[in-house]
Amino acid sequence: MSIPSSGVALLGIGNDVHSSYLRGPAKAPELIRKALFSPSANSFSELGCSVTNHDNFNDLGDMVFEDQEKDFLTISDKLSKLLEDNQTPMILGGDHAITFPIIKALAEKYPGLSILHFDAHPDLYDELDGDRLSHACPFARIMELGGINRLVQVGIRTMNEHQQKQVSKFGVESYCMHDFDANTFVTDLKGPVYISFDMDALDPAYAPGVSHFEPGGLTSRQAIRIIQSLGQNDCQIIGADVVEYNPDRDINGMTAMVAAKLVKEISGLMLSSN
Ligand code: MN
Ligand code: MN
Repeated sequence: MSIPSSGVALLGIGNDVHSSYLRGPAKAPELIRKALFSPSANSFSELGCSVTNHDNFNDLGDMVFEDQEKDFLTISDKLSKLLEDNQTPMILGGDHAITFPIIKALAEKYPGLSILHFDAHPDLYDELDGDRLSHACPFARIMELGGINRLVQVGIRTMNEHQQKQVSKFGVESYCMHDFDANTFVTDLKGPVYISFDMDALDPAYAPGVSHFEPGGLTSRQAIRIIQSLGQNDCQIIGADVVEYNPDRDINGMTAMVAAKLVKEISGLMLSSN
């Protein structure tokens, strides 16, 4: 397949080998893609950008893992190749562990990048169950890389003592739901920005297809509004992932459709600013 020289690259990374509680997100990419291209909805993002049939929206299919454990770190190589081709990666996970190798590649091209991270969990554990690459650890590994300008977390409702220490150590801006106004929050991130969206940031009422149910989360509308607020800033969205969709826990594919909607809104912003 020939790929245009620039654009948004949709790529599935169905790897869940570093999940701590349930497997399942490895099966997510094809279901999110199916919802994204479903004839039940048109191709437009809310801000008026035609996404799925845009000339610069390139579906690159899914990465193939012979051995999820052994091949995990090939994710960085794949991302580096995409960046060389001037593609803006729009990644379908997989669990959240994949964000570390993704950012590792992006940080080389975009030193000083910032991250807007949606999640119920801070994912800042130094290690979990002996696994430093666990899906509970990616943002500790990312901050240890150095060179990340700001890490802003929203939707958090599982902060504990250890992770609070990590927040202080790494200078993370972690907004916890108990004192967060999700209806008015506007991000002031500037420069190169990566969006990492863990589906459990949303309330399980909106997105039941996740491994870790954590009530009291964001509504779909609040999350979309926060994403759209990036469009008003002087920032460049350099990549994004939508991770932790677990089809085994979904009801009528509703979480796949929410994930597809997020992909559509984020991709629309990327395509409008390219
Ligand atoms: Mn996460
Ligand atoms: Mn989470």
